[in-house]
Amino acid sequence: MTALLQLKDLDVSLRAGGPLSALLPATGRSIDLLKDINLQVGKGETLGLVGESGSGKTTLAKAILGLQAISGGGIRFDGADLLTPRDFARVRRRTAMMFQDPVASLSPRMRVGELLTEPFVIHGIAMKNRARRAAELLDRVGLPDQIAARYPHELSGGQARRVCVARALALDPDLVIADEPTAGLDVSVQGEILNLMSALKAELGIGFLVISHNLAIIRHISDRIAILYLGQVIETGATRDVFARPSHPYTQNLIASEPQPDPRKRRSDLAIKGEIPSVLRRPSGCEFHARCPIAQDICRKDMPALRPIGPGRCVRCHFAEPQDHSRTPNTED
Ligand code: SF4
Repeated sequence: MTALLQLKDLDVSLRAGGPLSALLPATGRSIDLLKDINLQVGKGETLGLVGESGSGKTTLAKAILGLQAISGGGIRFDGADLLTPRDFARVRRRTAMMFQDPVASLSPRMRVGELLTEPFVIHGIAMKNRARRAAELLDRVGLPDQIAARYPHELSGGQARRVCVARALALDPDLVIADEPTAGLDVSVQGEILNLMSALKAELGIGFLVISHNLAIIRHISDRIAILYLGQVIETGATRDVFARPSHPYTQNLIASEPQPDPRKRRSDLAIKGEIPSVLRRPSGCEFHARCPIAQDICRKDMPALRPIGPGRCVRCHFAEPQDHSRTPNTED
């Protein structure tokens, strides 16, 4: 698959003298928010990014959009390195963001029709017939064109989310970053939005980076997933493979903790203790060791590398074993 977005050894840290240096501890030492991130999103592919609050998901999205300075590594978009503010500005024209709270992300004083064509104004792109473009976008997300006359507070949760999808499509983006795309929606409406996103990916070849702590959402929509923990990727792979045989103890616990329709299917023998530590006090060695049910002495001393364990699978654990995905079933059990 052709890479649309590539993150290579990406680091983001707060440093003395930097724009957010006021947040640094009194010692003035730097704080690593993201460390050594290597990920890619292909054209027409959905990468699901999973992690608890504080894992670095939002920082990663901001870095891709050029809203958070990076301190190491690099970002490539459609084969070109993003090095300058002008590079990021050019890419923002081809990238759209779907925010977590759709109504809060829409100006309450603008009608839907104006909101849908506002990206053209923001990017200084001339357009002859705004009403027609707004109607096209509404049609694309399955809304009637009368919605164009409404204000955001007059929309249902599902309509507001569809309007956000339509607005994201306004400039025909190559990449959409969706932050908790179904937060706050009823389960049936969640399914509609996820199916809409999947259809758009298939029809338009858009790449999606979907950020969520909700594994059911990620499982439904993603081709591949990456698990973030304390600003580092700890497991990546094809969604089907990771859910069939999670390797990292953290991933195993996340999947075991998913609500199951049949309680007898719940796998809870790997209970994770405590909460994600602060980036201000990163643990030594494997940063997961204090919560890991199978930690050994080496885990407290040596940081494990993210290493391959099978085709397309990488895991950051000293004890991850090779996997043969040729035996992964095509359907869920
Ligand atoms: Fe657990 Fe050790 Fe693996 Fe870290 S390296 S996940 S502490 S077993």
